[in-house]
Amino acid sequence: MQDFIDKALILRVGRFREADLWLRLFTPQRGLLTAFAFGGSRSRRRFVGCLDALNVVSFLFQPNKTGTYLALGEGNLLKGRRGLRKSSKRLGFAANCVKFFEAVHVEPEESEKSFVLLDQALDTIESEDRISPLFPMLFRLRTAFEQGYGPSLDTCSQCGKVLKTAVAPTLFVEEGRILCGECSSAGGRRVPLNGRVLSILEHVCRNTPEAWCSLELAGEDRRIIYDAVDSLVRWHLGLKWEDGRFLRT
Ligand SMILES: [Zn+2]
Repeated sequence: MQDFIDKALILRVGRFREADLWLRLFTPQRGLLTAFAFGGSRSRRRFVGCLDALNVVSFLFQPNKTGTYLALGEGNLLKGRRGLRKSSKRLGFAANCVKFFEAVHVEPEESEKSFVLLDQALDTIESEDRISPLFPMLFRLRTAFEQGYGPSLDTCSQCGKVLKTAVAPTLFVEEGRILCGECSSAGGRRVPLNGRVLSILEHVCRNTPEAWCSLELAGEDRRIIYDAVDSLVRWHLGLKWEDGRFLRT
């Protein structure tokens, strides 16, 4: 493999010898990568201000001779997120989104879209005045849709009736589809929805994070959306949130 230069978002950084660092990275073309910055914690010259989580950096990647690992030759900081790191609350939202993102194994062909979504989400968390406590959950919802696990929100997948005006639309989790109240399915886990909830799901899935970052919800709708997102993520992505991290179910 030849050396290459690629843009990467740093998800995590760890130290494995006194001066050496490993980095968990996400790139638009190659998806998730792990790379080593030998001497990275000492070399200020090769990686000026680069090696912090959440930064976007243009790295020179240097595969070793046998192609078993990637070393980082040098980095050029494209986006530092100092504003984000100054607020522990914002950092908490960002950490939650990044952990989920890393736990969901993104196929390389979907990487570009996923990269843009995560980058936009982090920009939003850093720059918007108000970030709703629902933001990480809405990010999970959007990611599930980006990964193709989101049901069609427009029409009943059985009879074609418009869902937003249909009576008792229901999400059938295992089948990953929504049916109107007049159509029924064999069953499995189901989450009753309503027209307002469908509008919110649509809003989150069609617009950038900036457009829904301050979204607040009434008690009942909030519970329904949590339930729907949690069920989809557990069933289709095999993840549950426990003790501050995502575990395989
Ligand atoms: Zn129907």
